[in-house]
Amino acid sequence: MNGLIEVTGLRKLFHLGGSEVAALAGIDVSIARGDFVAVMGPSGSGKSTFMNMVGCLDSPTGGSYRLDGEDVAAMDEDARADLRNRLLGFVFQSFNLLPRTTALDNVALPLLYRRGTAMPATERRARAAQRLNEVGLAERGHHQPSQLSGGQQQRVAIARALVNDPALLLADEPTGALDSRTSVEIMALFQALNQRGITIVLVTHEPDIAAYASRKLLFRDGRLVSDERNPAPRRAADEL
Ligand code: ADP
Ligand code: MG
Repeated sequence: MNGLIEVTGLRKLFHLGGSEVAALAGIDVSIARGDFVAVMGPSGSGKSTFMNMVGCLDSPTGGSYRLDGEDVAAMDEDARADLRNRLLGFVFQSFNLLPRTTALDNVALPLLYRRGTAMPATERRARAAQRLNEVGLAERGHHQPSQLSGGQQQRVAIARALVNDPALLLADEPTGALDSRTSVEIMALFQALNQRGITIVLVTHEPDIAAYASRKLLFRDGRLVSDERNPAPRRAADEL
C-alpha cells in the first residue's frame, strides 16, 4: 500500500428529506504516482462525489483516505486546504476562470493562497507566465477569458491548476464543453503532463476520451464495478 491515493471502504451518505442516499457505498482503490485514470459511470453513480473526496473538498462518512501517505479523513478544514494547495490541481468542464481578469492573473491567483511566506508579485507573474508558456499560450497572457476560445480557456485553467506544481490533477469532464478536435488537443496536453510524471484522474462519460487514459474505473450506484488497465492508450498527439 504505497499509492499516491489509497482509498479503503470509502462511504459518503447524503440525507435527503427523511431518506439517506449512499453516493459512495464502500470504495476500495489504490492509484499509483504517474497513473492516468479515467472515471466513468452513468449520471448519479458517484463520480463527482468520489472526485470531491479525492480532492479533499469534502469529508467521507466512513472509511479511510490517504493522499501521499497523509490521513485526509482525520484532518480539519485548514489542514485539508493546505494539502489541496500543495498537492492538487483542479480542472472543470466550465473552466471556472474569473471574468474581466487576464489569463496571467487567473493563472497566478492560487499563488496568493499559499501558506507561509508570501510570494512577491513579480515572482507570481513570472511563474504564471511560465505555466502559460507550457500550455502553448505564451502570447495570450493579457487576454481576458471572453477574448479566448473554449480550448484556450481550458488551457488557461490547466495552467492555473499547474501553478503550484501539483502531484495530482483532478479533472471533472474537462472536454465536456469542447468540440472533438479541441478535446483531442486537451487530451494531448494531459498526456504530455502525465509523461512528465503528473498523476491524472479524469471523469468523462465519453469512451473516446477514456481511451487516452491508461486505466478505467467504472462506477455504478456508488460502487466501483470495474477497474481495467488499458494496455494501449490512444496517443492524442499523433491524431492532431
Ligand atoms: P455523478 O457525478 O456520477 O453524476 P454524484 O456523485 O454527483 O454522481 O451523485 C451520486 C449520488 O449522490 C446521486 O444520487 C446524487 O443525487 C447524490 N448526491 C450528490 N451530491 C449530493 C448532495 N450534496 N446532497 C444530496 N445528494 C447528493
Ligand atoms: Mg458528476
